[in-house]
Amino acid sequence: MASIIGYRKQVTVPLAHWCRNNCGYCGYYCRDNEILDKSAVLDDIKESKRQGVYNVLFMSGECPDQNSVIKALLKSEGYSSYADYLLALCQLTISQGMVPALCVGYLSCAQLRKFKGLISRIELSLENTSDRLNKEGLPHYNSPGKEPKVRLSMLRTAGKLKIPVSTGLLVGIGETRRERYRTLEDIKALHDKYGNIQETFIRAYSPANGNGNGGGEIDLQLITDTVRYARAVMPEMPLQVSINQLLPYYRELVEMGVSDFGNRPLNGDLLMPQAKWPNMGKLARDLRRVNASLVERPAVRDDFFNSRWYSSALLKNIRKRANVRLGSPSANG
Ligand code: SF4
Repeated sequence: MASIIGYRKQVTVPLAHWCRNNCGYCGYYCRDNEILDKSAVLDDIKESKRQGVYNVLFMSGECPDQNSVIKALLKSEGYSSYADYLLALCQLTISQGMVPALCVGYLSCAQLRKFKGLISRIELSLENTSDRLNKEGLPHYNSPGKEPKVRLSMLRTAGKLKIPVSTGLLVGIGETRRERYRTLEDIKALHDKYGNIQETFIRAYSPANGNGNGGGEIDLQLITDTVRYARAVMPEMPLQVSINQLLPYYRELVEMGVSDFGNRPLNGDLLMPQAKWPNMGKLARDLRRVNASLVERPAVRDDFFNSRWYSSALLKNIRKRANVRLGSPSANG
């Protein structure tokens, strides 16, 4: 039987680049004091809709309202916190017939509660659950939001609240094999308990090239070893890689059980701008040669299509947009 490989189209809306963390590998953070205003967000949403892309991922550094200038800007617009602003943007997105998701780092239990039913997913990478990586000289030093207990606790809270999540690992940041395996076991334990993980992603740290911009060589062996172990411990879990980063290895990845090629952003990959997305029509043809079909998938997976996870307004949008599911990629492909 042919394997089905999914990918999702989305627009990524970068709301703020300021972040309270200092991850050693970060290519997103920048020390500015800006936040995208609501009218600019609405323009992005409308343009995305015009192009037939209905998934909207709001992205930012973590806790940007810990920056006093951003906090004052939000206050001047009538928002007492960044979470309240995000909530207004999610409601705006739903009112436009679209499907919002969040990739904004840590949210407290009280903050998460606001989003119950109003987002298709929270994207929160564990990166790795080893405390060792938070020590001085290692990539998560001085990054309070990247302490494993903080991220695991947020994922547990999302589970208790029945909020769907995507989570995963960043490999090649100085972790050991045992630490990668342990992180996958932690994800499995979360999913066994709460059942709210829509997919597990495995991303490769791409070391800086000569320009210091990322795009250096990726250690494929680290990726394949991680995919194999993930497949062994979570046989049913959708496994996702970002195919724009790993295109030369698509055949091996499919053979090892990867079932998702990631989120194809309308406006380019903001985390890995150097990694261009392939022509999806050609990729579909290549995949057919290895007995696999490339399919644009809806915002959420089939087993999440119900009111246990989403409000009726969001569910209506998700169902309506699920009709975009294609047998093969076409638009923008
Ligand atoms: S949490 Fe994300 S945005 Fe913030 S420094 Fe780390 S990688 Fe960068």
